[in-house]
Amino acid sequence: MIAGGGIAAVETLLALRALPGGDGLDVTVVAPGSELVYRPLSVGEPFGGPLLRRYPLDEICADRGARFVQAAAVAVDGDMRTVTTSAGDTLHYDALVLATGACADVGLPNAVTFFADTDTDGMRWIVRELEDHTLRSIAFVVQPGSGWPLPLYELALMTAHHAATVGAGDVEITLVTPEDAPLGVFQGAGSAAVARLLDDAGIRVETSTYAHGYDGAQLLLTPGDRRLTADRVVALPVLSGPAIDGLPLDRDGFVRVDDHGRVPGLGGVYAIGDASSFPIKQGGLATQQADAVAELIVGNGDRTNAPQAHLRAMLLTGGEPLYLMATLGAVGHATSSASRQCPWWPPHKIAARHLAPYLADREPRILTTTGAAHA
Ligand SMILES: Cc1cc2nc3c(=O)[nH]c(=O)nc-3n(C[C@H](O)[C@H](O)[C@H](O)COP(=O)(O)OP(=O)(O)OC[C@H]3O[C@@H](n4cnc5c(N)ncnc54)[C@H](O)[C@@H]3O)c2cc1C
Repeated sequence: MIAGGGIAAVETLLALRALPGGDGLDVTVVAPGSELVYRPLSVGEPFGGPLLRRYPLDEICADRGARFVQAAAVAVDGDMRTVTTSAGDTLHYDALVLATGACADVGLPNAVTFFADTDTDGMRWIVRELEDHTLRSIAFVVQPGSGWPLPLYELALMTAHHAATVGAGDVEITLVTPEDAPLGVFQGAGSAAVARLLDDAGIRVETSTYAHGYDGAQLLLTPGDRRLTADRVVALPVLSGPAIDGLPLDRDGFVRVDDHGRVPGLGGVYAIGDASSFPIKQGGLATQQADAVAELIVGNGDRTNAPQAHLRAMLLTGGEPLYLMATLGAVGHATSSASRQCPWWPPHKIAARHLAPYLADREPRILTTTGAAHA
């Protein structure tokens, strides 16, 4: 059973079907929504870029021979090996992959929270204010617990690019982050390239800095109890784990896992992607976790050595994207690099072994800004 209908869940299904021994498995996908939502391109939407892509889950499941149950998983009974759903059904599993993503909440009151798939209006409004020349300053704030910070860097760079295009290049743009370097997870060549991009775009960066309040005019920064004037502040939501009974959770509610994605104390249960306690929440990593867990389920995986994670990111800038890579080792990342050519194929925002080529061949449903769907 796969609980979830997002990036990690669909990659798990595709990986299982691609593995020897996985094609005959009886697979059920349990998810409350009817669509796979592909969020990464939503940062371009407020600037007139492509609209959010969605793919019907029932079609994907039918295509890969899985049963689709539209309901949320609400409880897991590890002894009985069952999942209770929001519809009141009790479903049996031999192996369970929890890929339920994270819950998103406002982290900084009075700031515009960029919720990607549910609300891009706040950011769109700021773009309009830029075009009307009514803004003097904007701050973009990375907060602890925001998950993958890259979209905020993209929003800052795209805002600077758009401001220059509409003759509002004098607007002060600041990026505030607790990271010790811009996109610090790409420490080294990758992070240095991002720092140069921000500098070239005229974006001031405050690293090792926390924003702990915004009153609509001033952003309160620590350390130093400083104030930064900002007409508008944009932040990402703060993430917490899924509310499913019967699971061991860390203090933020994420499902505890070992280095292989196994949930301790629950035989046959795995957690992957944003729902798991793995500290970096990123779609590409979620798909690598899905691939590794699929191998374990069909009995192929390496149960001794933890899989190495390869971080790949396409940073949208308003102009040419920047492609970043890093290899995460047991003691942090070993190498990072940046280039203007995409080093992976297909050149999707979420670099995924099975999902990227699969989606490249499928027509998404695209929602217009009024919420109407068209192919
Ligand atoms: C604006 C933005 C831009 C991003 N850009 C990138 C990028 O460029 N590259 C990249 O790699 N990553 C990017 N990410 C991160 C990436 O989107 C996430 O890391 C990724 O979606 C995580 O996949 P997931 O399957 O764990 O969770 P999700 O994709 O969130 O899917 C979770 C699924 O579980 C379902 N669910 C929820 N609760 C339950 C339940 N109780 N029972 C069953 N199902 C449940 C949900 O309905 C959903 O279908 C971005 C994120 C955002 C917000």
